Amino acid sequence: MLRLLFTIGLLFLFGCQANSETTREIEMYNGVGDMVGTATLTEHPDGVEIKLKVEGLSPGFHGIHIHELPKCEGPDFKSAGNHLNPDGKEHGLLHPKGPHLGDLPNIEADGSGQVDVELMVAEATLLEGKKSLLRDEGTSLIITEGQDDGMSQPSGNSGARLICGEIKRKAGDKSTESPTDPTESDREQKEE
Ligand SMILES: [Zn+2]
Repeated sequence: MLRLLFTIGLLFLFGCQANSETTREIEMYNGVGDMVGTATLTEHPDGVEIKLKVEGLSPGFHGIHIHELPKCEGPDFKSAGNHLNPDGKEHGLLHPKGPHLGDLPNIEADGSGQVDVELMVAEATLLEGKKSLLRDEGTSLIITEGQDDGMSQPSGNSGARLICGEIKRKAGDKSTESPTDPTESDREQKEE
């Protein structure tokens, strides 16, 4: 029975990966514009899985969050806005009124500064909807210098933003929105 379930699970995984709308790989960049890794996002029934491979971090724990805008402009990546928070919750996996949809457990870089982990953005989706990582223009994935304490507002005292990857619709994806000027910044004003 277990083996059957496992096989069904594998078939399901392969089924997802064969569908271009439910998996995508994004590129991760440091503050000076060097590509330092990738993140592969895959749609699951209970959230979006992220397979993350990056290098160039200091050894130890770092925060990682989904941010509300798909704009990775170095060196500080402030362009990405706040943590993705469609339900208006408080920050932090440990906060009683949290977490933000974009809050994730800290990741640990090994002694050579590399990270190779799998994370799950619970309740998120790559499909349509309020909790879509591709809503509006998209979102972004950012790794910070310090670790997230899971409680402090607004971002867990996790320090400077070091590595950023834009999560955007691919050209040709189904989208109801019309093309927008990439320099437009009006959208940033309405969130807070
Ligand atoms: Zn947060």
